[in-house]
Amino acid sequence: MSSETIRFPFDTRPETGQALEVADGVFWVRMPIPIPGLEYINLWLLRDDDGWTIVDTGLGTGTIREAWESVFAQTLDGRPVKRVICTHFHPDHLGQAGWLTERWDVGLWMTLGEWTFGRMLALDAQDALPDDVVRFYRRAGFGEDLIDDYKKRGYSHFQSAVTPIPRSFRRIVDGEAIIIGGHEWRVMVGRGHSPEHACLYCADLKLLISGDQVLPNISPHIGVYPGEPDANPLGFYLDSLPTFKPLPDDTLTLPAHNDPFFGLHARLDSLAHHHDTRLDALLAACAEPQTALTVLPHIFRRKLEGPNVVLATGEGMAHLHYLMGRGLIGRELDEAGVYQYRTIGAVRHFGDAGSGSADAA
Ligand SMILES: [Zn+2]
Repeated sequence: MSSETIRFPFDTRPETGQALEVADGVFWVRMPIPIPGLEYINLWLLRDDDGWTIVDTGLGTGTIREAWESVFAQTLDGRPVKRVICTHFHPDHLGQAGWLTERWDVGLWMTLGEWTFGRMLALDAQDALPDDVVRFYRRAGFGEDLIDDYKKRGYSHFQSAVTPIPRSFRRIVDGEAIIIGGHEWRVMVGRGHSPEHACLYCADLKLLISGDQVLPNISPHIGVYPGEPDANPLGFYLDSLPTFKPLPDDTLTLPAHNDPFFGLHARLDSLAHHHDTRLDALLAACAEPQTALTVLPHIFRRKLEGPNVVLATGEGMAHLHYLMGRGLIGRELDEAGVYQYRTIGAVRHFGDAGSGSADAA
């Protein structure tokens, strides 16, 4: 269906440590991520009048710092990096922000929500899994084996994946125009994947740096986590997708994962459709009481292990909470202290309740 209308214009990708110019003064940098299904993150170097702007930074490892040094030596023409912008707090995006801003003695530009969340998580790191986190996953249906497995991994994963996040930052806000290389790049805030995700749109060049908000091949992760146990991030995400519809369809989207692509409108439609399909599956599954854990085989085909169980549970919960928000599913804490989710009334097709993508309340 709509995937046929998505087109990838580049035959070649930059090697690690190199940069490939994809539009006038806009360079594509690719860094490895040791996560199956992701493999690489795309970062962007924008040529400015007297230097460069970096958008997103890579995981906080020594290998990636070496790759950045190689990019700097080959691409910067002796001019300095002037600022670092991060789309959101996830460690593959924010990981090297501390090192880069110190290396070049420049500011970190982010939305308040993303900078604050990243700082908080890094400072919150500890060896033991906090009690409220354990309770959150018990309520989701985790048995002792899964809880023990999580306890062994500890609670410092985020901190270990980032260089120290700067204590101060330069706030960017939705609608703000940042002038880079004589072009206006407009900040477009999306929600759902992360609290206040910044995309950057340049009308002159017809480019959208979409971060993780819009990806061509994979669906951005939308998850519920212990810090906000009753969150409805899928509601935020489905509300955000149409805000990109006014952009021209011949915009070249520069995503953080997969390759740059044309076909933004078709992709926005197919992302909404993907979630509608999952919501339908959950409505049917919850005809019988389900936990956040037991619904997972209804929406994920692959076998889930280790940290992926946590990610998938967050994703399953995001869909359950969305349906609760629409009054289609109810939740009760059972005698064992586990939430049981059940469809309210007769089982119906999610489409009967109206499309979640267009006018979710
Ligand atoms: Zn992300």
